[in-house]
Amino acid sequence: MKHAHIRRFVLLAVLLASVNFSVLAQKSVRTLVDEKNVRAEMGFLASDAMQGRGSGTIFERVAAEYIGSQFMQFGLEPAGENGPDGKPTFVQSVDISRQSFAEAPWLKYYDKTIVHGKDMVVLSTTSASVTGGIQLVGTGEIPRADAAVIMRAKEGEDLRGAMGAARKLITAGASIVLIEETPEIRANWANFASRMPSFTASNSKPSMIAVVSKAAADELAGEADGLLVTFEGKLNPVKKQQTWNAMGKITGSDPKLSAEVILLTSHLDHLGVRENAPGDDKIFNGADDDASGTVAVLELARVLGRGIKPKRTVYFVCFGSEEAGGYGASYFVNNMPFAKDKLVANLEFEMIGRPDSKVKPDELWLTGYERSNLGPELAKRGAKLVQDPHPEQNFFQRSDNIQLARAGIIAHTVSSFGLHTDYHHASDEIKTIDFAHMTRAINSMVMPVKWLVNSTFKPAWNPGMKP
Ligand SMILES: [Zn+2]
Repeated sequence: MKHAHIRRFVLLAVLLASVNFSVLAQKSVRTLVDEKNVRAEMGFLASDAMQGRGSGTIFERVAAEYIGSQFMQFGLEPAGENGPDGKPTFVQSVDISRQSFAEAPWLKYYDKTIVHGKDMVVLSTTSASVTGGIQLVGTGEIPRADAAVIMRAKEGEDLRGAMGAARKLITAGASIVLIEETPEIRANWANFASRMPSFTASNSKPSMIAVVSKAAADELAGEADGLLVTFEGKLNPVKKQQTWNAMGKITGSDPKLSAEVILLTSHLDHLGVRENAPGDDKIFNGADDDASGTVAVLELARVLGRGIKPKRTVYFVCFGSEEAGGYGASYFVNNMPFAKDKLVANLEFEMIGRPDSKVKPDELWLTGYERSNLGPELAKRGAKLVQDPHPEQNFFQRSDNIQLARAGIIAHTVSSFGLHTDYHHASDEIKTIDFAHMTRAINSMVMPVKWLVNSTFKPAWNPGMKP
């Protein structure tokens, strides 16, 4: 009897293990993140109704309120400002004073002037007054502090590549980088020149990057090494605006570890509506950039918000006005709701809506992977994270994570952006999103993030790799 009983039990166990259990195990992996939820959140954020979530517009605010409302439903605690009833909300409004040029800015050296829109197009500037000394820098050479580097055109280098190289020069100490025009830039010259350059928020010293005509590059390169170059422009009266961050948190459950914070972020804004965009579609939906990353933050909030609370405190923040110059993140970094030394790590999610053919289909890449031990440690815990396959793009510097990294925080961006041509175009739409990829991508980060928010592991910069 006993024997028969055991045999039956063994049979049952074998059945469970061979059929039911494996099905259950597969199912539990699959259902951590549900594609239906991913579609629902993307459908709202990237819909035409949201008018491209333009930085600082009412649509950005609606996006922030929506995300906050989701956070609330997922069981998060509010981490925003107090509402009219005196109770904390899930949204933080940030006052920003935006500078704008009243007329085309210019570059001066000796008695010569190069004007934006004519012999130059300014691609990025943090100030209406930047100076530098002319320097010709060879490949890989480090510029002098406050150099005005003239970057000669390189065969086959596209604007993105040149911009990446220029950003590296700025990080290395240059204050001005002047990129010689290429045929690709010349073909789009009128488009660049039609817009007044906007300012990028920055906590570092003034800097600017511009493209100059071939004639201007020739002249500048012929000038004496170290000759002073000045970038200036007349400003409009400062415009007071607002931007909105969506903020929720889960207070850690461990008496000691709850003092430590893991920060999960994205940017909720995009480029809005641009009436002078070519073609009929004027709405820049920003489905991949960065509704996709925002949905990753939402879905991680959904998973972490249910069940056993993480040991460490987790903040979920979707920043406003990244596209306008990183204003939401900049405010956050300067006004952290916790002591800065309690912030263990930041993972930003940007553009995970489509796979990158440069890596394996199920892989994501982490910007600055080689800079700290965070990526490798997450990979050990199952994250499908690899090194950024586009180092020339300098993506580590191109997302909100950089503002935290510059403040000393271990901060990287998770992405699978394969340099698709819909980037910053009205065609970055829902219909281009690969939902199976995106769901799998978010899913693949759940267990590694769960490990991070429950561990005592503190990541560190690799020697000499701190930005
Ligand atoms: Zn983005």
